[in-house]
Formats: sequence, structure tokens, C-alpha cells
Amino acid sequence: MDRKLLFTPGPLTTSDTVKQAMLVDLGSRDSAFLKTVCEIRHRLLQIAGVANAGYEAVLMQGSGTMGIESVISSVIPPEGSLLVLSNGAYGRRIAQIARRLRITTHLVEFPEDRPLPADCLRNAQPATHVAVVHCETSTGLLNPVKTIAADARRAGGSCIVDAMSSFGGVPLDLGDSGIDYLISSANKCVEGVPGFSFVIAQRDALLGTEGWARTTALDLLAQWKGLEADGQFRFTPPTHALLAFRQALIELEEEGGVPGRAARYKANHNTLIAGMRELGFIEYLRPEYQSHIITAFRYPQNPAFHFSTFYESLRDAGFVIYPGKVSSADCFRIGTIGRLFPSDFTALLDTVRNTLSELNSN
Ligand SMILES: *Cc1c(COP(=O)(O)O)cnc(C)c1O
Repeated sequence: MDRKLLFTPGPLTTSDTVKQAMLVDLGSRDSAFLKTVCEIRHRLLQIAGVANAGYEAVLMQGSGTMGIESVISSVIPPEGSLLVLSNGAYGRRIAQIARRLRITTHLVEFPEDRPLPADCLRNAQPATHVAVVHCETSTGLLNPVKTIAADARRAGGSCIVDAMSSFGGVPLDLGDSGIDYLISSANKCVEGVPGFSFVIAQRDALLGTEGWARTTALDLLAQWKGLEADGQFRFTPPTHALLAFRQALIELEEEGGVPGRAARYKANHNTLIAGMRELGFIEYLRPEYQSHIITAFRYPQNPAFHFSTFYESLRDAGFVIYPGKVSSADCFRIGTIGRLFPSDFTALLDTVRNTLSELNSN
């Protein structure tokens, strides 16, 4: 088998044991499967710090974007509105989803190279709902979501957080945060395989959304009701992905939970940054804004550098990196999440060094 290491923001490298957990076919009504779903939902609430605090975990088929679309299409009333505070491509995508659903949407854009200002909500147009991205994966910066959620609550609004690339890898306690909906997916920091997203929803907020869903398949409240009634999904569940995810959650706990995982990702990040700087690469973000999830590097000044050849040469050596997503600068990205360890980054850096010297000798 052709094994590659993925230095990407998902799908990402998973452990062998997570992959092995999928070697069984379970029926969607099988009691072992229902137990798995129940356990997953409970563990997700624990990770969010709200196992006994009025929150519900809802699993939704599809990629992370479908989880976001599920929330946006389900929880905003017909006469409601959405304020999106954005400093990157993933923030803009939320606004795009809302507009397509014909929801009144205010997109306020901030510079991509720094976190949202803590007071960004104070001068903005009022809306029934506010959406913000926790880790803006286009650059790797972290936004002050708790401050924004607290301000939203004070202003009487409901707060939606896209925590896709941070949940499980950056500590974030939802208890008393004012965050009503947090969205993440199976194939990011929990280190499962793709196939579904999940929403941690404040129970009373969720229960108040009856009749608002604009789609059938992504109806969040109906999905929750189905899971509550008999533990089942309304439509074919991603059984194998759920089995893998259960194993991934066990491995997250064994690693010391979110703090343990964050420590490994930080070690990965530190190894990467030190090595890349030594090779002359410059990060897009200032270090104080940079998270340990993913890092955007500027293209080197070297006229011999072409991202596609650089990418292919690393890929042929077994290392998959990621293109950039910053609108104002040419960058590529290297993720530090997934089943990767500092030694994997040392190996990647050796290959980057060789690739660069080949490039210069051609
Ligand atoms: C990965 C990601 C998404 C969406 O992911 P898909 O699974 O590709 O739909 C959304 N927001 C953020 C911040 C992400 O990192």
C-alpha cells in the first residue's frame, strides 16, 4: 500500500487502530451500532465541557460544510438575520451559505492577518444570530469566540461557532459561554475519518427552532429528535466512519484529552516552524497570532519556486501538504494536526530541504 502522511487540515493522517475499527459491517439498527452512537454523543459533550450543562450533541451526515449548512438552515427564524464576522475564507463561506438560503445576511470583513478585534460586535449591525470561525483554517489564527459570544448574548443574539479545525485540539469550554451552536467534523482534531459533522447545541435554543428548517435532509432539530427517539439516524448513517470515530475518541482520551492532544500539536508546530525558518521560509501570520493547528507560509522569493512542482515532489516522497487560501498573499499551508509526531515533521523538513536544493540546481 502506498502510505502517505497528510499534513493537511482534513482528511488527515489517522492511526492504524482508527482505520481497523472500520473492518466490520454493522446494520443501522444493530444494538452495537446504537450503543456506539450514544457513546459518541456523550463523549462529544464531555470534550466540550458540557456533559451536564444543557447541551445536546447532534451528528449529521456529510462533510463539515454540511454541518454548517444544517445549523444555518435550521436555527434562524424566517424573519431572522445573520451577522457573519469574518477574517478569512471559512468565514466568507458561512455568509455564502446563508445568502443562498435567502437569509438576511450581514458580512463584516476584517483583515485576514490578525484575529477579530475583541469589540468587533459592538459597532456591527444587530442580528438575531452571529456566526464566527474559531480557528480560521485559511491562516491558522484563533478568534476570540468567547468574548464575541458573550457580547452576542448581551445584545440578545444567538452565537454560532465554526470550530471545525479546533474542536478537540484547542481547549474550549462551552459551559456558560453564550455559544449556542458549535460545529465540527469527524476528520479534524478528533482524528477520525470523513463522513459526518457534529453540532453541540444549547438545548433550549435548539428546542426553540421548531418549524424553521429550510431543508429536510439537514434539519437539525429533526435529526436530534430521531437520535433521541431511538438512537438512529433518519437516513443511512456513515456506520464505518462512526466506528472509526468512536475509536478516535478513545485515543483522544488516552492521550490526555484535549490538553494532551494540544501539547502534541504544539510540539509538531514548534518543530515545523524552527525547521522552516532555518530553510528561509516566512510565516504569513505574526507568531503571536499563530495557532498550533495549521501554518501558512509565504512562497519564497526564489523565481525557481513553483508550488505545483514543490507539492508534487513532496507528495512523491510521501508527504502531502496543502495549497494556500489567503486572498492577499501567495501562500501554502502545512497542517500540524492528525496522527503526526515531531519525528514526522523532521522527516518532512529533510525532504523540503532536498527539494529546495534540487530546485536550485536545476
Ligand atoms: C475544514 C473546515 C470546514 C469544512 O470542511 P469540509 O469538511 O471540507 O466541508 C469549515 N470550516 C473550517 C474552519 C474548516 O477548517
